[in-house]
Amino acid sequence: MKIAYNENLSLLHFGEDHPMRGDRYQRAIERFRELGLGFETVDFPPASEQDILLFHTKDYVEKVKEISRRGYPDISPDTPGFKGIWEAATWSVGATLMAVELALKEGIGVNLAGGWHHAFPETGRGFCVFSDTGIAIARLKKQGLKVMIVDYDAHHGDGIQRVYGKDPRVITVSFHQHPSTLYPYLTGFVEETTRDNINIPLPPLSGAKEFEFAFSQIVPPLVEREAPDILLVEMGVDGHCSCYVANLSISKGGYYRVGKVLAGLREKYSIPLVMVGGGGFVYPHYADAWAVQLAALSGQNLSLDLDDCSSPDRMEEVKNTVERAKKLAGLP
Ligand SMILES: [Zn+2]
Repeated sequence: MKIAYNENLSLLHFGEDHPMRGDRYQRAIERFRELGLGFETVDFPPASEQDILLFHTKDYVEKVKEISRRGYPDISPDTPGFKGIWEAATWSVGATLMAVELALKEGIGVNLAGGWHHAFPETGRGFCVFSDTGIAIARLKKQGLKVMIVDYDAHHGDGIQRVYGKDPRVITVSFHQHPSTLYPYLTGFVEETTRDNINIPLPPLSGAKEFEFAFSQIVPPLVEREAPDILLVEMGVDGHCSCYVANLSISKGGYYRVGKVLAGLREKYSIPLVMVGGGGFVYPHYADAWAVQLAALSGQNLSLDLDDCSSPDRMEEVKNTVERAKKLAGLP
């Protein structure tokens, strides 16, 4: 298993006290080595302006360059601006493009510094400067490939839904904390579900059991029906009980077992798989919750406590949501 990684990913640094610290990825890589996870890192170039323009507007690209030169103002109220932000953001997009190349060549590719699903074409938002997965999907579409993106970061993948939610060549699925209780507040409701855009909002404090149930009810039958050429996964772990940016309570075991389901799909359909990091901000938990997923995908075992979160029973509500979504999506 190969991870697109180099030290330039640490340039995406929103400040010492900000969850998006630049050393997030380096610390994860070091933690993976400590845990004995087997992987290789692969160097990559930054994304080009042409790549960025596959998803973003020319006006926004010029704005980011100007902020990058000046060091101010912020990109948006919740996305800081700083000197060099253009370069920093293009490196993280470049890593996702390399992860896609790895997936197409070798079956699986990983970029921990990706999954910036809140960025809109005309502006960055929610800590996301450029939509790396949005750009990757645009490139894959140009190659004539049918893409599925499955996102289980704790927040709704609103930027991806906005651009690709109505596109039948791109299947979008998002599991997230109920948007009445968490950013982005306005989207991610089950009522938005259609045949090729599925939203599963989980009630606050939902745990591994609820997450695994929802995932295994929706993703395998959807892959079977849609037969995508490539699967992008936003494996955000801010739904782990340690993480303060959301209020889910998914254990490492939940992430491990969902990783196992993905490993099974990859084997059954020989589908190239791209894993991007998304959220998760409390060390070492975010690194561990990524590590268990990558271990599941590459058939490795790590000695970590998997049953590390407690949660109340939210199954009935989740079952109702899943039933509703299946009906709207036409799933069996
Ligand atoms: Zn998130």
